[in-house]
Amino acid sequence: MTLRPILIHPDPRLKKLCKPIAEFDRDLGKLADDMLETMYDAPGIGLAAPQIGITSRIIVMDANKDPDAAPAPMVLVNPQVTWSSDETNVYEEGCLSIPEQYAEVTRPKMVRVHWQDVTGKEHEEEFDALWATCVQHEIDHLNGTLFIDYLKPLKKQMITRKMVKLKREMARG
Ligand SMILES: [Zn+2]
Repeated sequence: MTLRPILIHPDPRLKKLCKPIAEFDRDLGKLADDMLETMYDAPGIGLAAPQIGITSRIIVMDANKDPDAAPAPMVLVNPQVTWSSDETNVYEEGCLSIPEQYAEVTRPKMVRVHWQDVTGKEHEEEFDALWATCVQHEIDHLNGTLFIDYLKPLKKQMITRKMVKLKREMARG
């Protein structure tokens, strides 16, 4: 397994519409393992392929926040929301590509998602609460959407400016 560098917003690769995955080979399994390792290391509860510069439709997540619980890693290939509840939920969201910035985002409280695993097998499951927010946030990444795209333009602009500054500092070392 390899830790992959996580792209920081703004980056054109974070704004791309990602391509569906058609080959369920060993490389895909390796990519999923790398993504999980990178996510746990960050640490984060979700990671989408474009965040490591790969514009393919695959996400990983583990929204189990109970420190005593066993890890619950999930890999979702070609995930699609097939149903979402009218009831909404507000969570303070963050993103590994927008470090240390948090803002409240309103989303459907429950969603049903269809996806394939790394072997191509199909799955469908309902997600609730934090898991639902997480899976919607990650699927958004596959469509080039970031959580700050839901904020007021001024707030989004302020966060983007902070990230530009952060990237400049990181580049300087
Ligand atoms: Zn994110």
